[in-house]
Amino acid sequence: MSELPGYKLQFASDNTAGVCPEALAAFNESNKGFASPYGNDGSTAKVCDLLREVFERDELEVFFAFNGTAANSLALASMCQPYQSVICTDAAHVETDECGAPEFFSNGSKLLTAPHHQGKLTAAEVETLVKRRDDIHYPRPKVVTLTQSTEIGTLYHKGEIAGISQVCRAHGLNLHMDGARFANAVASLGCAPADITWRSGVDVLCFGGTKMGLPVGEAILFFNREQAEDFAYRGKQAGQLASKMRYLSSPWLAMLQQDNWLKHASHANRMARILSDRIADLPGAEMLYPTEANAVLVNLPDWAATELNQMGWSFYNFIGGSSRFMCSWATTEAAIDALVADMAKVLAKQ
Ligand SMILES: *Cc1c(COP(=O)(O)O)cnc(C)c1O
Repeated sequence: MSELPGYKLQFASDNTAGVCPEALAAFNESNKGFASPYGNDGSTAKVCDLLREVFERDELEVFFAFNGTAANSLALASMCQPYQSVICTDAAHVETDECGAPEFFSNGSKLLTAPHHQGKLTAAEVETLVKRRDDIHYPRPKVVTLTQSTEIGTLYHKGEIAGISQVCRAHGLNLHMDGARFANAVASLGCAPADITWRSGVDVLCFGGTKMGLPVGEAILFFNREQAEDFAYRGKQAGQLASKMRYLSSPWLAMLQQDNWLKHASHANRMARILSDRIADLPGAEMLYPTEANAVLVNLPDWAATELNQMGWSFYNFIGGSSRFMCSWATTEAAIDALVADMAKVLAKQ
């Protein structure tokens, strides 16, 4: 088999994949002539309009950031004061993988964590944290953040989001969604993007572009115009306003046209489904969570995980000691065959 560069790195994350052909073509297409800087160009305006269409929301306000850490941190900071707090799960990317950026950009808002249930926050957990105390010494919750799809590849259904939103409304909290893998969630749920965002009470979505096949960049979507006030200044101050914005925005155009984003996300989800089913058939591998999007979490014996690593396969040891395998728009069935064959070989030694 002729192997691509980095072949055995590919399951480590969906950001090991390159740029999908449509996004790359749009990127190159945008490299013609001159365009106004800082988002005042034609393709940026078009992407914003297309997002308003996709989300069925005329008053949608759109901003771009270079990565998800900046998008999440700045969005959260815009929704709470430094003396207030943000509720998330103990497995949330904002808690475990952003190096304190949400606290930094908010000038100190504390993250309050709740134990995750299959990767998810529940309305009851939110309520418990909100009601735990109401004295002046407790950092008052002001935002709830959900990850869709979750860090372990599960999904929030519409009703779960609406339930959490109800608790938010009752207590004056804002609702944020980390959608680094939002495309995978929409593709898997087969719902309208609006149904699992603003129609279920989400105020702000950080819509991931990188992991769905863009070269770089995430979109920050404010569903209510008044909450977006001054956000442009916050982004600029944080170094997130691209001067040649057309290169961030035009690949989005290609993704949103002809539903390319859903085509690629569906493919990634389908590959994960196949990988999950095949691993589940191997004696000695225990599936830890349902495969609902593009992540496969499996409990391998430590020695087996080490041996697979020694054979060159990269993957993260993740939540609860499990091994996580991610699929992307670029995952092929041949790559799955190769991984599963090696895994079977290793596990047969037990
Ligand atoms: C990848 C990812 C992000 C964004 O990470 P960056 O490396 O900052 O782009 C945010 N949230 C989740 C759940 C992610 O998996």
